[in-house]
Amino acid sequence: MVTARGSTKEDSHRVQSAILYSPFFLKHQAPNYHPENPQRLEAILEAFKKSAFSKNIETIEPKPASKEQIALNHSVKYIEELESFCKAGGGYLDDTYANEYSYISAALAAGAGINTVDMIIDNKISKGFCLVRPPGHHAEHDKAMGFCLFNNAAITAKYALSKGFKKILLLDFDAHHGNGTQNSFYYTDQVLYISYHQWPHYPGTGSAEEKGEGDGLDYTINIPLETGSGNKEFLELFDKIVQPAADKYQPDLIIVSGGFDSHKDDPLAQLNLTDDG
Ligand SMILES: [Zn+2]
Repeated sequence: MVTARGSTKEDSHRVQSAILYSPFFLKHQAPNYHPENPQRLEAILEAFKKSAFSKNIETIEPKPASKEQIALNHSVKYIEELESFCKAGGGYLDDTYANEYSYISAALAAGAGINTVDMIIDNKISKGFCLVRPPGHHAEHDKAMGFCLFNNAAITAKYALSKGFKKILLLDFDAHHGNGTQNSFYYTDQVLYISYHQWPHYPGTGSAEEKGEGDGLDYTINIPLETGSGNKEFLELFDKIVQPAADKYQPDLIIVSGGFDSHKDDPLAQLNLTDDG
């Protein structure tokens, strides 16, 4: 989700929210059962349709990010290799699958964040929910990792910086540490990266001692959680760490890297957030 500060009371009636979604995201699929699958988005869409606020929110089809935009966060070599790999039918890149549709799906996923930033700049919306696949926060500068091809949140943040935003809070509540996102902003104070995650756990990074370096020192805040942590721990740590850090930083844009595997029923992690949480 991407949201901006600064809308006034007068424009609160016309400033809207949007969901960015493309049916194309369902085409990115592993050959066999995989926990990161199209049903994830279908379940969210289904729940959304039943919700009371859905009628006030427009669903917008994103445009794919260009290679130049993706290259804000990834090497051109990796982008072109991934494109060729997908054109040839795909397969496994380390632990991450890709099929013939995955490059376009990943470009659309990154594009959704970029489109949201553009609409915020144009004052068409004040917040957007990017319902996208493949996910992004494990993807590194030059490689796919952890089911992630392009780092959607990092590309979105870098695009927003290129458009004049100065301070971005990037909050990541996925059950796993966002190694790729942390690495993208480890040396800068222009993005405050805060991550909740089960720890120790995949991918191994994310200890509280990792705080950024150089200009970025103290602009990475890791919140490692013990197995079994749930609503109570998330909320207590929000009041104790996240809210004070956000108040101090005063971001002009907030990006939430929302992985839903901190839910108690998720098979890949052992956190205990409920639906309400
Ligand atoms: Zn995860």
